[in-house]
Amino acid sequence: MLRLASRLVQAGARSRIPVQISSASYSAGTTHDADLVVIGSGPGGYVAAIKAAQLGFKTVCIEKESTLGGTCLNVGCIPSKALLNNSHYYHLAAGKDFAMRGIDVEVKLNLDKMMEQKRNAVTGLTSGIAGLFKANKVTRVDGFGTIKSPTQVVATKADGSEDTINTKNILIATGSEVTPFPGLEIDEETIISSTGALSLKEVPKRMILIGAGVIGVELGSVWSRLGSQVTAVEFLGHVGGLGIDMEVSKTFQRTLTKQGMKFKLNTKVLSASKSSSGIQVNVEAAKGGKAETMECDVLLVCIGRRPYTANLGLENVGIELEPRGTVAVNDRFQTSVPNIYAIGDCIKGPMLAHKAEDEGIICVEGMTGAPVHIDYNCVPSVIYTHPEVGWVGKTEENLKEENIPYKIGRFPFSANSRAKTNADTDGFVKILSHKETDRVLGAHIIGGGAGEMINEAVLALEYGASAEDIARVSHAHPTLSEAFREANLMAYCGKPINNV
Ligand SMILES: Cc1cc2nc3c(=O)[nH]c(=O)nc-3n(C[C@H](O)[C@H](O)[C@H](O)COP(=O)(O)OP(=O)(O)OC[C@H]3O[C@@H](n4cnc5c(N)ncnc54)[C@H](O)[C@@H]3O)c2cc1C
Repeated sequence: MLRLASRLVQAGARSRIPVQISSASYSAGTTHDADLVVIGSGPGGYVAAIKAAQLGFKTVCIEKESTLGGTCLNVGCIPSKALLNNSHYYHLAAGKDFAMRGIDVEVKLNLDKMMEQKRNAVTGLTSGIAGLFKANKVTRVDGFGTIKSPTQVVATKADGSEDTINTKNILIATGSEVTPFPGLEIDEETIISSTGALSLKEVPKRMILIGAGVIGVELGSVWSRLGSQVTAVEFLGHVGGLGIDMEVSKTFQRTLTKQGMKFKLNTKVLSASKSSSGIQVNVEAAKGGKAETMECDVLLVCIGRRPYTANLGLENVGIELEPRGTVAVNDRFQTSVPNIYAIGDCIKGPMLAHKAEDEGIICVEGMTGAPVHIDYNCVPSVIYTHPEVGWVGKTEENLKEENIPYKIGRFPFSANSRAKTNADTDGFVKILSHKETDRVLGAHIIGGGAGEMINEAVLALEYGASAEDIARVSHAHPTLSEAFREANLMAYCGKPINNV
C-alpha cells in the first residue's frame, strides 16, 4: 500500500502544473493540479478525501456550502441527534419519569438554549473536518463544482469567479436533497422540511408529518416530547420506513403512541392550504375513499430524499442518470467514465452516512488497485427515538419471501437485569438464524441502547457468526447487551438462561 501511495505522489509530481498543497481556500481564479477531486464534503466526500490524501493522492475537495460536512453534519444526523437527546432529557424530567425515580424538579423548556447546544455540536464537528483537512493536507476549494471534462472540474464561487482543477480522477459525492411534495411550497416556517424542523423557533401546538419513516418519527418525536400534538400521516401500513421488521414496527408504533404521537396509516395526503386558523391538510385512504381534512400549525414534509446532481455537468462527460436519479456505478464505484467515480446518497442503496463513508474509503482504496468490497446486507439502520430501533441483515419477511428456513430467538428487555435497574424495559431483541446452519441472518432490536448494540450484530454478520458463537461469548454483567446474548441463546438452543 505504501509503495502504491508513493507511486501516486511521484505521478502527481510529474503533473503539468505543480500542485500546491494547502488547507487554505484559494483566491479567485486559481488553477490547481490534483490526483483526485472530490465534489462534495458530506460523510462520503470528506472521508474519501482524507483517505485519499493519506494514501498519497494530491486531493482537492470542492464544497458549495460555507461549512464542510454535508447533510449529515449540518442538517441531518448530527443536529437531529442533538435535539433527540435533549428533548429526551426534557421529556424524562417534565413527565412522570424523574418523579418515579425520586427526582423532584420544576422543569421549564428553554428552546433557544436547546438550539444553541445543537448549533455548538454542529459547529464543533464541521470545524473539526476543516482541521482534519488541514492535518491531512486536503485542499479545500469553496464553490459549486461542475465537471467540464473527464480531467477538469471548475468550482464557481459566490462572486462568480472560477477555480479550475485539472485532475486525474473525479469522485462525485454530491449527496441528496429533500424530495418535494407536489403542490406544497416549503417555507421552512410553517410548511417545513427536515431542515426547518431542526430550527423551529417555538413548539407548534399541532404538527402533522407527511411520512412516518425514519426522519419523520425522529423529528416528530422531538416535537412531541417538547409538547406538540403530533400526527403522522403515512401512505404505507407501518411506521419506521422500508427495511424495518414488521414485528418491531408494530411494537415501535405502540410505544410511540403511548408517548403521545398519533398515526394515520394507509393514508395519503392529497393537498394542503394555509388559512388564518392554521394549515388544512386534505387526506384520504391510500386505496381511495372518503376524503378528510386535518388541521395543524406546522406541516412537516418528510417523504424521503432524492439524489442531488443538479448542474454537475454530467452531460459534458456523457454520464446518464438511472430512472430514480442515481448515478450508475460498477462494483468499483466507477461511472461509465472510468476515472469518474460516485459514492454515497447520489448512488443506489440506503441513504445513510456510514454507508457513504464506507463507500468513500473503499472507492479510494480501489483507485490504488486495492480490492473493493462492501456487503450491503451488513449495513445497519438505526432510528434514534426512545426506545431506539436498530437492525441489520434480513427481516423475517425477507426470509419468508426468499424461502430461507430460519429460527427465531427473542429476548425481552423486561427480563434483562440492567433494563430493570434502569426502569427502562420497553422492547426486545430478535435474532433470526438459519434453521440448519445456525448462521445469524438478521438482528432486530428495539430498546434503550439498540443503536449501540446493533454494531455487535453487524460484526457477527460480517464474520459469519452462528447464534451459538454469540451465545458463548462473555458479555459484561449487568448490561443491556446480555439481552442480545440471550436472544442468540434462544435462537441456538431454544432456552434462555436468565429469563427472570
Ligand atoms: C434529518 C436527517 C437525519 C439523518 N440522520 C441520519 C442518521 O442518524 N444516520 C445516518 O446514517 N444518516 C442519517 N441521515 C442521512 C445522511 O445525512 C446522509 O445519508 C449522508 O449525509 C449522505 O452523505 P453524502 O456524503 O453522500 O452526501 P451529503 O451529506 O448530502 O453531502 C453532499 C455534499 O455535497 C455538496 N455538493 C453537492 N453538489 C455540489 C457541487 N456541484 N459542488 C460542490 N458541492 C456540492 C453539498 O453541499 C453537500 O455538502 C439523515 C438525514 C437527514 C436529512
